[in-house]
Amino acid sequence: MKTMTCKQLGGACDKKFSAESFDAMAELSRAHGMQMFQEGDKAHVAVIEEMIAMMNKPEEMQKWLDDKKALFAALAED
Ligand SMILES: [Zn+2]
Repeated sequence: MKTMTCKQLGGACDKKFSAESFDAMAELSRAHGMQMFQEGDKAHVAVIEEMIAMMNKPEEMQKWLDDKKALFAALAED
């Protein structure tokens, strides 16, 4: 298992996620982000709005994703 924080995944808090793969990690982060968004947490709403804006720029989105994948790959296993 590897552990990343919400912030490391482009989020806004120090909540930790543990997962075996980057895809599973991204899914946990996304679910958490959506929950915080629904609760109206301002910091998370802001990062999610940035994310939505980035989705209109596939190259930026891909670079962002590659960065996060590289970060995940570089982590030590727990
Ligand atoms: Zn968070």
